[in-house]
Amino acid sequence: MADYEAVIGLEVHVQLATASKLFCSCPNHFGSAPNSNVCEVCAGMPGALPRVNAQAVHYATLVGLATHCEINQNSVFARKNYFYPDLPSGYQISQLDLPLCEHGYLDVMVEGQSRHIGITRIHMENDAGKNIHAQHENVSYVDLNRAGTPLVEIVSEPDMRSGAEAVAYLKALHSIVTYLGVSDGNMEEGNFRCDANVSIHKKGEALGTRAELKNLNSFRNVQRAIEIEIERQKDILEDGGQVVQETRLYDAVKNTTASMRGKEEAHDYRYFPDPDLLPVGISDEQMAAWRAELPELPASRLARFTAMTGLPEADAEVLVSSRAMADFFEEAASHAEARKVANIMIGALQRALNARGCTVADTQFSPAALAELVNIVENGLISATIANDIVPDLLESGAMPEAYVKEKGLVQISDTGELEGIVDGIIAANPAEVEAFRGGKTKLMGFFVGQVMRATKGKGNPAAINSLLAQKLQ
Ligand code: ADP
Ligand code: MG
Ligand code: ZN
Repeated sequence: MADYEAVIGLEVHVQLATASKLFCSCPNHFGSAPNSNVCEVCAGMPGALPRVNAQAVHYATLVGLATHCEINQNSVFARKNYFYPDLPSGYQISQLDLPLCEHGYLDVMVEGQSRHIGITRIHMENDAGKNIHAQHENVSYVDLNRAGTPLVEIVSEPDMRSGAEAVAYLKALHSIVTYLGVSDGNMEEGNFRCDANVSIHKKGEALGTRAELKNLNSFRNVQRAIEIEIERQKDILEDGGQVVQETRLYDAVKNTTASMRGKEEAHDYRYFPDPDLLPVGISDEQMAAWRAELPELPASRLARFTAMTGLPEADAEVLVSSRAMADFFEEAASHAEARKVANIMIGALQRALNARGCTVADTQFSPAALAELVNIVENGLISATIANDIVPDLLESGAMPEAYVKEKGLVQISDTGELEGIVDGIIAANPAEVEAFRGGKTKLMGFFVGQVMRATKGKGNPAAINSLLAQKLQ
């Protein structure tokens, strides 16, 4: 069959974690009692005047800087008119002709390959309220707590070619906004949302008609929805049909998409500059200060961490999965060998965090404790096995490793006198294996080491055990 190429562009909405809403001083807080964080402005009362929240402009600018955008130091808010019950003013305040940020990009790694994804624009806008249908059989309610919450919408160029690329780009964006601390990035609570535009065409030909997929609330669903949409469009074209431009809703349970509505165009919204708001001006001094504030971003830290540890990027990625994790690694690695610190974090620590469903910041574990743990393996006080085994306890208790292993009697037995007695016992108890070993079956060394280890409950020093066994089995 003809080879089609898929084309994907993403529109990502990120809720900014400001203290108050975008145009009023109501708290920007998830989970309050319905309609408790609402005033005349965010309820859209006629005559109530909006005022721009400086912290939102600050946060949105940081997102633009971190994604290599040009920042328009004079950007303009515009009204996007449409009717919906959760939008009492009848318009959303957004940006069209002069958005805050334009012409950015992200370079992301996909299956070992670097991909350059253009960012068309990033604009600020307010969120709508929420309609609640599930509470009553015949009545729908409206909760305006979310109305007026600050969002940035990050619109990409149609530069992605597969579901995997879209997810890689989305994860890169997600880690940037959470590193910057400008958003909680919680996809389930809807403060990091994505719409995917998908089309297919034959290489070298013009782009195909796109469908816009909504309701993608996890990375996995983004990938699955894009993949089944590509297949759906292929089937249509191969049957001689045409893809129609429309908005489709993804159903994660059935793993299908269904048409929701025809696609509206910008002119349907009758955009015009909001007469209640002046252009947003950012001074040169302010820009310089915000630029200076940018933290080191995940891509650069990943490059540095792979160099420090010699680990492949795919492994080291765990270390930059959140800013807390990266700071933790960096701090611990300044007091112990980086590679060994990384190994514990990627293995035992990550497993323990997954099991508890929390992040390292939620535990009692400290970078100093991790460094100490690595160092007491290094100096022979405990074995690497014990070190990995006690990580969950250290997370729970906040104990320092050296004191902990001494108290629990986990200290490694390096004393040759004590080990010698155990080795002699094992040799005496396994005459057949000893004979086979002496007859040339040297692979049995592993068996003897294992037996001694078991007898010492994992506390025997492996180097000492090996050399004692080698001596005695000769
Ligand atoms: P709209 O509001 O109509 O969705 P936007 O400009 O906000 O328009 O977003 C359009 C999105 O669709 C962008 O991410 C863009 O990259 C993407 N896009 C445009 N054309 C195509 C296409 N042919 N196939 C896939 N994605 C496309
Ligand atoms: Mg759009
Ligand atoms: Zn308000």
